[in-house]
Amino acid sequence: MRASRLCGLALLGAIVWMGAACGAAEQNPPEGQPPAQAQSAPQQPQQPAYTLPPDKLAKAIALNRIRLTLEIVGSVWGLIVLWLLLATRAASGLERWTERIARRRWVQGLAFFAFLAVILTLAGLPLDLAGESASRHYGISVQSWAGWFGDWSKALALAVGFGSLLLLLFNWIGKASPRRFWLWGWAIAVPLMVLVTFIAPVFLEPIFDKFEPLQKTNPALVADLEKVVARTGTNIPPDRMFLMKASVKTNGLNAYVSGLGATRRVVVWDTTAGRVPDDEVMFIFGHESGHYVLHHIVKGLVVSAVSLFFVFWACAAFAGWMVRRFGGRWGIAEREGVVPLATRTGFVVLIFAVSIASFLLQPAANTFSRYLEHQADVYGQEAIHGLVPDPQKTAVASFNALGEAWLEDPSPNRFIEIWLYDHPSVKNRANFAADYDPWKNGGHGEFFSH
Ligand SMILES: [Zn+2]
Repeated sequence: MRASRLCGLALLGAIVWMGAACGAAEQNPPEGQPPAQAQSAPQQPQQPAYTLPPDKLAKAIALNRIRLTLEIVGSVWGLIVLWLLLATRAASGLERWTERIARRRWVQGLAFFAFLAVILTLAGLPLDLAGESASRHYGISVQSWAGWFGDWSKALALAVGFGSLLLLLFNWIGKASPRRFWLWGWAIAVPLMVLVTFIAPVFLEPIFDKFEPLQKTNPALVADLEKVVARTGTNIPPDRMFLMKASVKTNGLNAYVSGLGATRRVVVWDTTAGRVPDDEVMFIFGHESGHYVLHHIVKGLVVSAVSLFFVFWACAAFAGWMVRRFGGRWGIAEREGVVPLATRTGFVVLIFAVSIASFLLQPAANTFSRYLEHQADVYGQEAIHGLVPDPQKTAVASFNALGEAWLEDPSPNRFIEIWLYDHPSVKNRANFAADYDPWKNGGHGEFFSH
């Protein structure tokens, strides 16, 4: 949800597209997928472990049809908008117009990219509105429209403010190094991605939500979570545990890890802490601890950095081909010694190429994400072994709470799961948890020796 809004930073998102997949190692709403059937994957149980009462089941089926439609239409729509900007010569018209209204090149560039950010964000507004309406209709979102538009405006302001600066920088690199710009762009994108991950919990997340120390509001829960910390032998002191005031916006459950190094933390939504039994929060916390101790954020960053290298290289070549083939039709012309791809409109072609690549690579990025999520599920269940009476039961109960709160689809289509879900589906997570008992014959888990 938040990711899609921040993607008013769609521009920035297009560049740091995969970073999102890794940073968001959270138990997000519209997600799921079959268990990244790990080594220890058991047979499917007879009875599904995730079930909904009949009234909620009907709602979940209807809501997921809407979510799915919006998601697919949204991905394709983003590409169509970029193509339309080029094919109708709106982009080249905007470029010429900004050249008329400003004298300095950098001001022209800022204006061009700021308008581009506004256009792309506005183009996504109808779909965002539809998604929010559906979420509200089914009782998941409880945010006022004023609050929702407030968040939307903040995301737009970020896209215009930072997004346009960033695009201007990349555009300038294109001019400075017409042949190797993709390499320089990559060399800047990687540390930038790390920086954004580092500052996100301190500077970005508080723009949208309020946080306070979990210790302050839920001391008993913190004491329980400290038991998990002790068993995992991790270094997550109470001052790295935060409560997010999500209840003003949603009834959904969530917890997540974010940050890097000095800013690394675990965040539990206030719809989860206090509303869900502490045992289940311990499991969710165990899952998040898994992300924390297995260095999933860092692994995600590394995989993103390596992938981006090839993505940038391929996209530069593909965009170059598009400019040669369609440049005339799209109003892109060489000027003042600037190669066509390095013009502002040429840069939109580059964004178009990166967007196509990110669309095509979505299943791969999501498969990687689902693998990490499954690992965290296994870790979480092992982390609460010995701390709760029955880890299987606790894990299954928390998946049911999660699925019911978000009205998760109890039987999602497998192809859809592979393409769109960044977490295994609740159905498969619950099925796995119900059968996962490595201790039964005196054995031990994958991550703990007892
Ligand atoms: Zn997770």
